[in-house]
Amino acid sequence: MSELKDAQKNILEALKTINKEEYYELLKEPEKFIEVNFPVEMDSGETKIFKGFRSQHSTLRGPAKGGIRFSLNVNEEEVKALSTWMTLKCAVADIPFGGAKGGVKVDPESLSDAEEKRLSKRYIDAIAEVIGPDRDVPAPDMNTTSRHMAWMMDEYSEDSRELEPGVITGKPVEAFGSKGRAEATGYGAAYIVEKIVEEKDMEKEETTVAVQGFGNAAAPAVEYLDSIGLKIVAVSDSSGATYSEKGFKYGQLVECREENGSVCKIGEKITNEELLELEVDFLIPGAIQEVITEENAENIKAGHIVEIANGPTTLEADKILAEKGVKIVPDILANSGGVTVSYYEWVQNRTGEYWPKEKVLEKLRQNMTQAYKDFQKEEAETDREKAYAVALRKIVEAYKIRE
Ligand code: GLU
Repeated sequence: MSELKDAQKNILEALKTINKEEYYELLKEPEKFIEVNFPVEMDSGETKIFKGFRSQHSTLRGPAKGGIRFSLNVNEEEVKALSTWMTLKCAVADIPFGGAKGGVKVDPESLSDAEEKRLSKRYIDAIAEVIGPDRDVPAPDMNTTSRHMAWMMDEYSEDSRELEPGVITGKPVEAFGSKGRAEATGYGAAYIVEKIVEEKDMEKEETTVAVQGFGNAAAPAVEYLDSIGLKIVAVSDSSGATYSEKGFKYGQLVECREENGSVCKIGEKITNEELLELEVDFLIPGAIQEVITEENAENIKAGHIVEIANGPTTLEADKILAEKGVKIVPDILANSGGVTVSYYEWVQNRTGEYWPKEKVLEKLRQNMTQAYKDFQKEEAETDREKAYAVALRKIVEAYKIRE
């Protein structure tokens, strides 16, 4: 099934859960979708045409919000689906934004730095008429970083002849970004893990965690969970996975990556499949989509799955996991720390007051904990449907109040 059909199914099921099926037509398709085809000058002097998209799923709760990805897999259906999930994510996190997503169909590995810069600027020019601090606020996503955001902000500002830092978030701290944004996704998920550990009175030193991935989102989660004393028994990166019964320290993993280019040169080598099937208290898929499927769901032995990656578990796997009693903190909740601090960045850009990192992280912690509490109160067949139901209640209310 296509991702868009999945997203639409998610919405329909959740609307049924809250008895508001009549709003399906309203939320099924994005409010606005554009495809752009734009020229970029390559280093060779030749000009190439690139295809990009921007999908604004909803502005009911605020300006549309969501990242921009650079990938060969970018396509219309995917961007539409991802923008739908952003609407739900912002509602679950209870921040005043709608949902959007954009992307350019390109293999970023094939570009030089200068080409990436020109591509970023040309893409922003191409979508400039539909974005803006009060319309639609992009951010980083797959294969884009704070550097791309700085280029894009500059381009938009030059065209509007005014500095517009609030047009995009996830910028470098040196260029109107927010302190704490870089670690926000990982820390946000880790705050929820910490909350569960406290609520369940689990012994920290005995609590085991396996993390798939050690990138921008997953590594800060490992850092935080290690700092509060949880036992990180397994991690992985694109080169493979590694296991240690007595647990890894974050510093040790970073050092190993610096020396060997990968975290998996220490510990006992295991496969990615084995990592997912470890008997741990927390399994954190933090890298790739669709790694927990109907093929392996039966073998998952984790007590909780906290999804830092977008879409790591398929809908078929959800049902199997729910039957087995595995608790899931779904992606739209678990990884909403990133967009939450994007919101704080936008507020700082618009007020001109910049906050210390402690303040950003404290607000993030409160927001994540509150969002998790709202999720716990909801009732539905699976944990994912619970998160969607929380989101859709808020989205429907935002519409109904104006009816
Ligand atoms: N791309 C990130 C996400 O999927 C961040 C979006 C944002 O900060 O607007 O949540």
